[in-house]
Amino acid sequence: MNTFGGSCSQCSIVHWTLQCLCVDAVGDSSWSICGVGLCKGNGIANNGGKLACTVGINQCLSTYKYSTRIAYLETYGPIELGRRQILTKYENDLIANANVRGGGVGDVGGKKKSDQHSNSPLLASVHSIATATTVFSFLLFVILERRVLTDIQWLTSTRALALAGLSVVYVDVLSGLLHITLDNPTITHWPLLGPECEAFQGHHVAPNDITRGTWLRHLCEAHFVNAILCISVLVNRKSATLRQFLIFANVSSTWMMAAHRLAHTHPRDMWWWAKTLHSTGLLISPAHHSAHHITYTTNFAIFTGWCNPFLNFAVEYIGHPHNPLWVISFFLCMLAPTALSFGRERIPQYKPSWDGVKVAEGKQG
Ligand SMILES: [Zn+2]
Ligand SMILES: [Zn+2]
Repeated sequence: MNTFGGSCSQCSIVHWTLQCLCVDAVGDSSWSICGVGLCKGNGIANNGGKLACTVGINQCLSTYKYSTRIAYLETYGPIELGRRQILTKYENDLIANANVRGGGVGDVGGKKKSDQHSNSPLLASVHSIATATTVFSFLLFVILERRVLTDIQWLTSTRALALAGLSVVYVDVLSGLLHITLDNPTITHWPLLGPECEAFQGHHVAPNDITRGTWLRHLCEAHFVNAILCISVLVNRKSATLRQFLIFANVSSTWMMAAHRLAHTHPRDMWWWAKTLHSTGLLISPAHHSAHHITYTTNFAIFTGWCNPFLNFAVEYIGHPHNPLWVISFFLCMLAPTALSFGRERIPQYKPSWDGVKVAEGKQG
């Protein structure tokens, strides 16, 4: 029986499911299972004490009755559950095809970088500063724009809907460009951006780790982008339109982070409203995002995914995802709202009714 380089033992296949006793990073053993065939022949490895597909989203979690079977194994052990060892040639072939790789914790756990902030004090402090900047700027924008934000007519006006819609499209495009940039393995030696890329690329090694931490911490992960967007307002401090747009963009960006996590959440744990958003195409669905985790060259946008057909075309026919020009386009996209705020107001105007003053709001910005 395959011993998984010493990191998993007592492996057997029972009811089309590989079950092993796997060692986690601190040396504790626990039972783990993975439906044979769920990883589509790409192999199964011990990832931090859990059996996981070596490529793409960890479909092991989709194993039939996953939690119940693990709980049963933990309570009664493998003999009670299995009642037999696998002996048929077909089942032995399945084990061979599962191609379970050795090394386990040492190999996969060592590469796991999705939680690198705790390993890198510099990166952790950069993210803390970014979150503080984002929260402070967002509150400041809300205070400065409190008149429109508390006006129900403004909130339901064409102007507000246009700004909200634009922010959704903008954040989707930005998420795609950010993802192409951070996925680039050829720029991990760059200052500042390199460690960020390295940490982000750990998501390909352990895709489902994204669902393990707290929601609050997860939603703060992209704040270094929000912080730069917020600071760029200083270039055009007079523009109310820019502030209003960034209020919506900050909200959209929070949803973008949520969308990525929800795309990795097991259907068992998915909220009904998230399933509705997936089925209506308002957030990327797990199936849509899974395509990215197979080749890493497609479906880079992780919010609504609306711009993915265009980005997929661009990375295939215009510039390879590893081309550093994508980094430039990402930064240009970040600066676009501020640059455009100097141009002519094209967003629908709104005539505020407060104080009896009839002023076209667009002229504020
Ligand atoms: Zn990726
Ligand atoms: Zn992902």
